[in-house]
Amino acid sequence: MRALIVEKDEDGKTSASVQEIEEQRLPEGDVTVAVEYSTVNYKDGLCIGPGGGLVRNYPHVPGIDFAGTVESSDDPRYKPGDKVVLTGWRVGEAHWGGYAEKARVKADWLVPLPDGLSTREAMAVGTAGFTAMLAVMALEKQGLKPGQGPVLVTGASGGVGSVATAILANLGYEVAGVTGRPESADYLKDLGASQIVPREDIAEAVKRPLESETWAGCVDAVGGAMLARVLGQMKYGASVAAVGLAGGAALPATVVPFLLRGVNLLGIDSVMQPYENRLEAWKRIATDLPMEKLEAMIQPATLADLPGLGADILKGQVRGRVVVDVN
Ligand code: NDP
Repeated sequence: MRALIVEKDEDGKTSASVQEIEEQRLPEGDVTVAVEYSTVNYKDGLCIGPGGGLVRNYPHVPGIDFAGTVESSDDPRYKPGDKVVLTGWRVGEAHWGGYAEKARVKADWLVPLPDGLSTREAMAVGTAGFTAMLAVMALEKQGLKPGQGPVLVTGASGGVGSVATAILANLGYEVAGVTGRPESADYLKDLGASQIVPREDIAEAVKRPLESETWAGCVDAVGGAMLARVLGQMKYGASVAAVGLAGGAALPATVVPFLLRGVNLLGIDSVMQPYENRLEAWKRIATDLPMEKLEAMIQPATLADLPGLGADILKGQVRGRVVVDVN
């Protein structure tokens, strides 16, 4: 079987290459999956490169998500031929992941592919899109409904942002996308954004703890100073789903928006998400994400493209969704 193997030399330097390896080298697990597609996330960029502290042992096969067909299973929940998708559980970090023709994993980590979604579409969605759906579900649970005002999506042309934009627009929300790439404006409008907010308009540090009440909700992939600014721009009682840290992990904010405007900050984790929520999110993706919009986001790739793509995503240079055909 072919796999992208990351090795570490005696000086601690890592290198990634496509290699032919024996299937027996796959880690322990109760289900073996013939992987069809994977994708490229920020964490993959780290794991293809120096590891960012995520990878425990080398040689390593990265790929934090994949979709494919069950080849063999020791678990009664899955049988050969079942279509499955996997995100999270530290697969591709602590456990060998999806950048290979086969993967062996725990049955608990898998989700059956919902009707109406192909394995290729599932990886066009990927961890980023799955997390975007979790963020939208969290905002809805807090009472967000169409018609309450514009919903802000930060890092809009990235993976999380693109899918969040398409889902929200399809559900009838007015979507404002923040981007640092002016050339992404048409792409975001095609996904359904009705307003483009230049990154520099919202990236500066908080000067006043409260600004005009502007956003009815927010899916935030950026964190840092931008999230701090956004908190002060939320409408009364509105919620921000904090998904990512593309702009930084610090939160240089004040608590004033929480105290005077009842703003809510909702944490979104995709890695340890309980099974029932995963099932619901994947079902919602199959119904609420317009597949023709998804198709327009896809950038196809192969295992051999991954070292380059891993470096690109760390520089914030990947737009939309990379779909890796591992075969
Ligand atoms: P991408 O790299 O595809 O997208 C991030 C986007 O953020 C970029 O495309 C860019 O958008 C914007 N951006 C990048 N750098 C900066 C910066 N310095 N300041 C402001 N904006 C910036 O990543 P993903 O969409 O895959 O992931 C987004 C974040 O979410 C990452 O931090 C990732 O680790 C996190 N994540 C978290 C998950 C969870 O479980 N909570 C799951 C998946 C991802 P533009 O060019 O339009 O400005």
